[in-house]
Amino acid sequence: MTPFVDMHCHLDLYPDPMAQIAKLAASRAYVLSVTTTPSAWTRTSQLADQLPRVQTSLGLHPQLARERRSELPLFDRLLNKTRYVGEVGLDGSTACKSFWADQIHVFEHVLHACSNAGGKVLSIHSRGAAREVLDYLEKFPDHGIAILHWFTGTPRQLARAIDLGCWFSVGPAMLASKNGHALASRMPPERVLTETDGPFAKEGKVPLQPAQCDRAVDALASLWRCGIENAKHSIVANFRMIASASERPSSLRDTYSRRLL
Ligand code: MN
Repeated sequence: MTPFVDMHCHLDLYPDPMAQIAKLAASRAYVLSVTTTPSAWTRTSQLADQLPRVQTSLGLHPQLARERRSELPLFDRLLNKTRYVGEVGLDGSTACKSFWADQIHVFEHVLHACSNAGGKVLSIHSRGAAREVLDYLEKFPDHGIAILHWFTGTPRQLARAIDLGCWFSVGPAMLASKNGHALASRMPPERVLTETDGPFAKEGKVPLQPAQCDRAVDALASLWRCGIENAKHSIVANFRMIASASERPSSLRDTYSRRLL
């Protein structure tokens, strides 16, 4: 059985994280366990100590930029412990615009640090701020591999993101919406991964669990006009591309420049 990929979930925020870990161990899933603060990273990565397929990314969520920007020195100290960074990004919603300067300060710091380190993979939040996120990715071209999680920009912004070499992680909630589905149909299949964003993303009132990435796989299989098992294989192949490319930072860029030629 092909394992599933959940490229963006918050394992530490489920009521019983160890129960989630036990399920992932049984399913042999590939998971990116994202964090929202640097101070959560060590404890969250310990949850998955025994599961090499579960990687824990170092994040500072834009919604917490004002409250937690004081943790940037800790972010810097932890950065060499993981190839994966996130959840980071910008949030242009009304509530978060009130501390926009803090968001910019944090995101610039993170991109600068990732550029210096090299070879990082970033899971990026861009709600209501697609243009600004893309501007900053362009400003720091050596940031690594950017995966735009639950992208909600315009088709034109999506095209720009594709040109910039971004990847995308899409989940059941995104694919269930008309706009999300339309955006996913324009994404290059070789740069798409699945995610749940659980437990924040819910189905009804119940938080999504990583295994529910299968809903996203179903939707992608019909978009790509292939069987479900084929779609699963493609997604795992995409994940492996990311996992191996991040060890060799320049290889993906080479792939893209070859494709452009
Ligand atoms: Mn999230």
